[in-house]
Amino acid sequence: MTLVAASKRQPEERIAAALDAGQRVFGENRVQEAMARWTDRQAEYPDLELRLIGPLQTNKAEDAVTLFDVIETLDREKLLKALIKAVAKTGVSPPDLLIQVNTGDEPQKGGASVEGLPALLAAARETYPGEVAGLMCIPPADEPAGPHFALLKKLADQFDLPVVSMGMSGDYALAARLGATHVRVGTAFFGARET
Ligand SMILES: *Cc1c(COP(=O)(O)O)cnc(C)c1O
Repeated sequence: MTLVAASKRQPEERIAAALDAGQRVFGENRVQEAMARWTDRQAEYPDLELRLIGPLQTNKAEDAVTLFDVIETLDREKLLKALIKAVAKTGVSPPDLLIQVNTGDEPQKGGASVEGLPALLAAARETYPGEVAGLMCIPPADEPAGPHFALLKKLADQFDLPVVSMGMSGDYALAARLGATHVRVGTAFFGARET
């Protein structure tokens, strides 16, 4: 299992300490903030793995495919098309994709619906030049996470997807027991965020 250190809004000295300690896999929520923080460090740490775990707007697709090794939040065909175009235009090697699934059907949250997943996955597998590696979810804050984690794992198995990104500071142990390959841990790893 891989610990993705969710570094959004964490002070620089904590990032530096994590790197010194050998942590190499980081999750960021915003493209601009991530570029400022990581672009120079990518040259310094060739084994760095950067994962976009926040929602992506199509107008940031070129920056996102250039910076990130993995984009965990594919959730619509329009974004898929923008990513394909961005990869072609920039000439970068395509980041792996995960599809975010809105397991709780929350209107304010990103993610493909469970019903919409098969079509989006098929389109991505057919048209994306890189790997469509797995699924990601963020369960509703006010519900037990277990059923959501179990559902995501079931969907990943059903569609033959090896990567399952689920679990945060409060529930990563549960997510790990239910089949997570990647847990995204922010405050439990770094401490409370700055803002
Ligand atoms: C911030 C964030 C995390 C980490 O949250 P913590 O509760 O600080 O562990 C994980 N996943 C996503 C998508 C996030 O935005």
